[in-house]
Amino acid sequence: MRFTVLTLFPDFVESYFRTSVMAKAVERGLVSYSVVNIRDFAVDRHRTCDDAPYGGGYGMVLKAEPLAAALDSVGASDKHVVYTTPAGALFDQERALALAEQSDIVLICGRYEGIDERIIDLYVDEQLSVGDYVLSSGELASLAVVDAVFRLVEGVITAGSLNEESHCDSLLEYPHYTRPEVFRGRAVPEVLLSGNHAAIDAWRRRMSVERTAARRPDLLARAALSDSERERLIENGGHDESDTGD
Ligand code: SAM
Repeated sequence: MRFTVLTLFPDFVESYFRTSVMAKAVERGLVSYSVVNIRDFAVDRHRTCDDAPYGGGYGMVLKAEPLAAALDSVGASDKHVVYTTPAGALFDQERALALAEQSDIVLICGRYEGIDERIIDLYVDEQLSVGDYVLSSGELASLAVVDAVFRLVEGVITAGSLNEESHCDSLLEYPHYTRPEVFRGRAVPEVLLSGNHAAIDAWRRRMSVERTAARRPDLLARAALSDSERERLIENGGHDESDTGD
């Protein structure tokens, strides 16, 4: 999988690709990337990339010409182009899975009040928002998209662990504990120390369902719950996360 990120802050974006799991995926040849400085495509002496909006109003707009030249330089018309914007469709695990089917993704990081709309008309395949809030620029949003997608590439993460994560099957993940057994008077749930893997799996599944009911009931409609799980939720009035499995 290849990611190309168009940005006004190349150092910031580069540092992400050189860090942690992504750095290892790049080293292993599972992912490749390039970071393109939009400013390199500005033609005037001051390398201007922004201009005032037609019609007046607050702020500036990222100009079409340098952005179009940057997009042309990476052959964007043959690639899947994503623009991260608060006005986009909400990015979620389902969209991450769909994007992971693409092999060559170009991401445009917006800035100022956003980018000239004609770039969206001419180049962009998908507009994505990382949440219902406004960030100062698109780097964090684009890298959130990259991060959620690249870890789905085969070989990056142990396949089994992906199947148990939050948002897989529209459920949130169960709670985790590690040593020590008692921390500040709080003990690890007995069941996790029992060595009984069937009981541990059942407890984790129950925690996962109850946690989702408590925190994200909106997800449950899409979750594949058994009849007994649904009945239990109704009996409990939604959730009972206090159950430690003792
Ligand atoms: N004026 C824009 C609006 O109201 O929709 C907000 C512009 S924001 C200050 C600058 C850039 O940050 C955007 O062009 C976009 O690339 C990025 N951005 C901000 N919030 C975002 C979000 N929730 N999701 C994705 N990108 C976001």
